[in-house]
Amino acid sequence: MIIDFHTHIYPDLIAARTIKLLEESGNIKAYTLGNLADLKRSMKENWIDISVVLPVATKPSQFETINSFAAQINNRDGILSFGGLHPDTENYREELDKIKQLGLLGIKLHPDYQKTYIDDPKMIRIIQYATELGLMVTIHGGLDIGLPNPIHCTPERAANMLGEIHNPKAKIILAHMGGYALWDEVEKHIIGKKVYLDTSYSLGMMEDEQFVRMVQNHGADRVLFATDSPWADQGETFKHLRKLEFTEEEFAYILYKNALKLLGMEETKETD
Ligand SMILES: [Zn+2]
Repeated sequence: MIIDFHTHIYPDLIAARTIKLLEESGNIKAYTLGNLADLKRSMKENWIDISVVLPVATKPSQFETINSFAAQINNRDGILSFGGLHPDTENYREELDKIKQLGLLGIKLHPDYQKTYIDDPKMIRIIQYATELGLMVTIHGGLDIGLPNPIHCTPERAANMLGEIHNPKAKIILAHMGGYALWDEVEKHIIGKKVYLDTSYSLGMMEDEQFVRMVQNHGADRVLFATDSPWADQGETFKHLRKLEFTEEEFAYILYKNALKLLGMEETKETD
């Protein structure tokens, strides 16, 4: 079984335009068309059982559109979607309640697109309340190749944030192995802390040796397989991970066991 914990798609009406804009700003190439149908094609070709879609609200006003699309695609044909909200939202509690009511399992925060530091009280209050509702929180970590400095979620700031969240059951996930392009800082401030790391856009972005060391020092039971599709190919990312020197038990944790646990899905059938 394979679960990809970090993917992006957009409503059909805006997918082509959005992908083009993001390709230009990040100087990168998309591996899918950025719509639901093409993500499903990629999943089928690459034996991905579940993809978690992570939308980002870049303005408070996007709340309705983003979350109604999220609810529409959620829980169908192997797609699970998180919701999105913007930290400038004053009625963040109400919005988080709505996300919960829609049946979405978590939220995505992107401190760079949302121009808010991850240890800002506006982010902390959202993360605190979301985790009280039992929602997962995935946070973009490190540099975003499409956006200029400053980096709003450095490993040091992420560590500050973690210290401010008072909930032993909090399910917080730092994307891009804790901080894209800031790998050494991740090793210094994040590795070993009680937080999940997703592997999106990190394999091949550092030495494999460092990647393996980070996973083993952090614990494979807190690392989630994730690709950042369409910005990486699901199949290539899987192949890259699979050739690394982990035990079969470690692979199982990374590829699906941790995800199943977070998603509250029982391991009922023998799929591996
Ligand atoms: Zn992403």
